[in-house]
Amino acid sequence: MLSSLFSKSYPNAVARRCADDEATRLRHKYSPYYHTFEKQQGSRVWKDGREMVMLASNDYLGLSSHPKVVEAARKALDVWGSSPTGARLSNGSRAYHVELEERMAAFLGKEACHIHAAGYLSCMSAIQPFAQKDDLILADKNCHSSLWAGIGLTQARVERFAHNNPRDLKEILSFEKDTTPKLVVFEGVYSMEGHVAPIPEILAVTQDRNCFHVMDDAHGFGVMGPGGRGTAAHFGVVDQVDLLCGSFSKSLSSVGGFVAGSNDAIEYLRTHSKQTIFSASLPPAQAAAALAALDVLQTEPEHLERLWANTRRYKKLLEDLRLDTWGSETPAMPVVLGSKERVYAFWQRLLEKNVFTVMSIAPAVPPGKDLIRSAASAAHTDADFDMIADAFAYAVKKM
Ligand code: PMP
Repeated sequence: MLSSLFSKSYPNAVARRCADDEATRLRHKYSPYYHTFEKQQGSRVWKDGREMVMLASNDYLGLSSHPKVVEAARKALDVWGSSPTGARLSNGSRAYHVELEERMAAFLGKEACHIHAAGYLSCMSAIQPFAQKDDLILADKNCHSSLWAGIGLTQARVERFAHNNPRDLKEILSFEKDTTPKLVVFEGVYSMEGHVAPIPEILAVTQDRNCFHVMDDAHGFGVMGPGGRGTAAHFGVVDQVDLLCGSFSKSLSSVGGFVAGSNDAIEYLRTHSKQTIFSASLPPAQAAAALAALDVLQTEPEHLERLWANTRRYKKLLEDLRLDTWGSETPAMPVVLGSKERVYAFWQRLLEKNVFTVMSIAPAVPPGKDLIRSAASAAHTDADFDMIADAFAYAVKKM
């Protein structure tokens, strides 16, 4: 009977689901994602021999080709080889893990830090071990997928509060008992919208309500606050946010991620986090690149200054064209166009003019907020901005 349901090319239902998937068919038809570039240099990428300005990366400080960062990674390969060879619980930490954790903790103003091979794992790790059955997790509804993945692994009850809306959070909290342990989960900077979280207001409405605060600062770390210390430092509230998590793949031009907090919280994470216990640790070259980039961030302030100068320049360019940047206050800069058809046409026009961006359409964004996702980088040059200005003017004219 079963064999008659599936032709020879679909041996089972899941194989058939993969082969027949409509979203995958559309992705192949319009091919907006998973482009392959044969070369990358600074702010430029090359596809089929065509040179383009990369306006969709998270290389905020432009350090991925900084000589000190590249040299540090190369040296680490010579000294340590390619791999950490396993998970730290069983296979041991390496000196570079400990050094990077100590440097990160000191930089962020926390007692301790634990690093992982991806920011995604760090964000999951900042939630999964900390929430138990009968706890309550209160999360901003626009939180990143990695935070929802961590939440999904807990048995805690979950309430979503309206995006960046402490009043809604307060209202939800008003129905809850103080005895219930609570995690409040939000981001420092929301990369889809470029919004900064109103952290002091979030802290005010959750004060004395038995709340443990977890903030993902993947897009604020290295970007916001004094010397790039992040969004909590920007508001002067580092000591009130219990856990800071984030990624090395944005401003530190590497890959990997971190969770920083009190000694107790980080040691608890090391005991209970599945993402930490059962996954291989950060490799040597990536740790060395992140550490060197952290050095550069602290010794060469010009990169952070240029990032913000370029952010202001890019935002003005978009606003002069009367484009909607969704009130972005950060280098993460959306261009809201409102429908997937408009976004696709706009994205193609930019590509015609050799400017590479990425489309975000519903359900990844709320209905009517379909947008072009882009980000300013310290790496963008005057010549890049000439191309960006020309491409956006062309796309607007054709709209
Ligand atoms: N949190 C946020 C807000 C992110 O944007 C990302 C990356 N897109 C991550 C976590 C995961 O970081 P990584 O890419 O280092 O896994």
